[in-house]
Amino acid sequence: MSVTTKLEYTPLAEIPTIHAALKAGFNSGKTRDIAFRKKQLLGLAYMVKDNIPRFEAALAHDLGRPQLESHLMEISLCVKDAIDAYHNVDKWAKTEKAPFTLNFVALKPTIRKEPKGVVLIISPFNYPAWLCLGPLAGAIAAGNAVVIKPSENTHATSSLLAELVPKYLDRSVFRVVNGGIPETTSLLELQWDHILYTGNGTVGKIVATAAAKHLTPTTLELGGKCPVFIDPKYDLHLAARRIAWGKFANSGQTCVAPDYILVPVEAQDKFIAAFADVYKEFYPDGAAKSDSYSRIISEGHWNRINGLLTKTKGQVVLGGDTDGSQKFIAPTVVKNVKADDSLMSQEIFGPVLPIVPVASLDDAIAYVRGNDHPLALYVFTNDADFKKKVFESTQSGAAVANEVLMHTAVDGLPFGGTGPSGYGYHTGKYSFDTFTHLRSSLDTPGWFDVLLRNRYPPYTSKKLNTLNRILYPSIPSRDGKESHWGRWIISGLVISLFAAYGLKNPTTIQNTLTYLQNIVLRQN
Ligand code: NAD
Repeated sequence: MSVTTKLEYTPLAEIPTIHAALKAGFNSGKTRDIAFRKKQLLGLAYMVKDNIPRFEAALAHDLGRPQLESHLMEISLCVKDAIDAYHNVDKWAKTEKAPFTLNFVALKPTIRKEPKGVVLIISPFNYPAWLCLGPLAGAIAAGNAVVIKPSENTHATSSLLAELVPKYLDRSVFRVVNGGIPETTSLLELQWDHILYTGNGTVGKIVATAAAKHLTPTTLELGGKCPVFIDPKYDLHLAARRIAWGKFANSGQTCVAPDYILVPVEAQDKFIAAFADVYKEFYPDGAAKSDSYSRIISEGHWNRINGLLTKTKGQVVLGGDTDGSQKFIAPTVVKNVKADDSLMSQEIFGPVLPIVPVASLDDAIAYVRGNDHPLALYVFTNDADFKKKVFESTQSGAAVANEVLMHTAVDGLPFGGTGPSGYGYHTGKYSFDTFTHLRSSLDTPGWFDVLLRNRYPPYTSKKLNTLNRILYPSIPSRDGKESHWGRWIISGLVISLFAAYGLKNPTTIQNTLTYLQNIVLRQN
């Protein structure tokens, strides 16, 4: 299967024109129609499904990605996100009633789910299709017009997206802009209604700064060093198998890949022995010959990872071989790595796994707490107290026990970082929410002035007294104890009264409300 190997950049002069066209497209109102959104979501799913061999070939070209990994970690997720949004958009987009309150129910408070407008999605190279198309599904479902800006590092996949999006989606509201720093900078100069950026934190700051100039809300999906805590009593073979898969898939270029291992010093060699067994199972003839192993995205990243490996003062115990001409770095395990090592100086984002021996669980926790909050934190243990201690003493985007990576694919879980690993969420309903404005709405009936008139001038102390009965909530006693029986009685009375009078007699309702408020106030 042939692929496009040279990415064509969108001419800089076209970028403001595309933006203006999408604004006009959005203002036409077409994206507000749920049937339109569903049609586009189906188009998105078919765009991927009809072209699976082309996506496989593009990912194999860009990242040397094995077919199974492409399906498991990328292509299937694109279809899943589109179809999940397709099936749920009616429900997600439905105007919601605000929670019932006695004081305000008559104002008919609702929450309208409105599109934010024209939004920008900027994606990185490591999952170049999914990290464009997954958020795109959420943005379409929410009714936005969207520009996606794929990574310039993935020539074949980004070219494929530029070719297919106009064929399958409505060009007046969905566009691809390809390019590098000048094109992204030009995009960022424009006013967007939301920007979702996925990538490294340094560029994340550039994006947030540019967005701030227009007060544009942003979602930053960033990275960081994801630690793994090992309880030596856990099945170390099972831990090694899961960790090795999560670390070496996509050659370690996964934002939530385990970055380093924290293991008690006395258990380090036992863990390495278990890892060595798994290593042989995974790559019986070595990773270089394996067709189950990806390559590093670019010479620049290969040089960076190779540099970290060359400078380490730890001891390479598995792998270690590299080949720049193939952008190959073997799955590598390095033991006795200290906190000041090159491998601990930045997110590795490659297939090198440092093992940091620690004297105690407290030391391991102190190390993690002393560094940036990671995007994911992993613990392998069957001991509930061990897990609780780790989770409750640390902060991270996700906290996962006895598993790695999978939380990004599990339905219903938000995907996002905290602190330097980012802010905001995506995947599934969380993508829809990210691109949705919750528009508060009321529709107050005329008769309600019977109650509201107390707010109008001329102000009197009688009006103030009546208002005060409604304005102040009941406060639990100072010891925090609350009695709920009053509420039950009130609810029963209200339902009976409303039913009895059929909402026909506002004066009676006013009297009832005031009477009930009095009961509540007197109770406390
Ligand atoms: P990258 O080099 O492909 O860049 C990402 C995007 O930023 C690209 O679209 C690129 O054009 C744009 N960009 C680059 N320099 C820019 C600049 N100066 N101004 C404006 N835009 C610019 O990918 P990357 O950033 O190297 O991606 C890897 C990082 O992304 C890792 O840190 C990884 O952990 C993180 N990541 C996070 C998630 C997540 O969901 N949290 C997912 C994947 C990757």
